[in-house]
Amino acid sequence: MGQAVLAVATSAGNKAGELWLRHVWPQRLLLIRIVCYGAIAGLIVNAVLSASIAELDASNAQLASDKSAQSEQISSLRALVQDLQSRWLGDNPPLWQPSGVPPNVTITWFAVTGTTQGALIRSLSDADICDRYGPCLPDPAVPGGTAWALESEHEAVPNAPYCYTPRTITYHWDFHDVILPQWSPKGGTVTMTLVSRWNALEQVMLTHELGHVRVAEAYLAQLNSQSQRLASCVALNTFWANPHLWDGLNAAQNAYHAQLRADCRPEVGCIPPGWMGWS
Ligand SMILES: [Zn+2]
Repeated sequence: MGQAVLAVATSAGNKAGELWLRHVWPQRLLLIRIVCYGAIAGLIVNAVLSASIAELDASNAQLASDKSAQSEQISSLRALVQDLQSRWLGDNPPLWQPSGVPPNVTITWFAVTGTTQGALIRSLSDADICDRYGPCLPDPAVPGGTAWALESEHEAVPNAPYCYTPRTITYHWDFHDVILPQWSPKGGTVTMTLVSRWNALEQVMLTHELGHVRVAEAYLAQLNSQSQRLASCVALNTFWANPHLWDGLNAAQNAYHAQLRADCRPEVGCIPPGWMGWS
């Protein structure tokens, strides 16, 4: 019995255990299940969302990268178009040609090359025209200055082979020689800006050298007015044979330089510091 009781008791205990299992445990199990399902659902949603967000991030990064690549392409295309638009194709602007040159002035050209302003400046200086066409008159204000253009007088000659009276004898320069650089760029290899700058430089150099021509003409005119007042043809011949007759011409040419420096403008044949990148 005791065993039976015990068994009953055990059985009762078991029943109680069963009851607990049937009534209490299932509720907890449900709760755990719900919690587990909830947690699993949460994990799944989180995993799905994370995957989606990662995809979106990747897409955004790709888009940003594509956009950056496109921007770079657009920038390089724009630069290419600007470069093509800035190219000089051979006629716009036309390459400078001298005009207004007096008939007793000849122009001797020396070649320079370059497709940039810096290369042209080097070519102008390397041409060493004082060595080739000089000697150059030293300008005390620009010691060691490099000449890019020159002017020289050939010879003063009388207007008649015989002198009957000094009053009718006039000396003139047989010709003046102006040495100027010549640049012959190929169309498409340089910019229109460089051609414009070159044209402006050529014009200033011609203006400057024609200023030297005028100084030489004025100097000779002043000698003519002296010699025409002489009393005899012998005195006239002596006057023009004087080797120091021309000493003052160099001083007059340097005075012209000093005058330009005092009022330096391209219109009068002077290149101000930094003007158009040439100095
Ligand atoms: Zn000069």
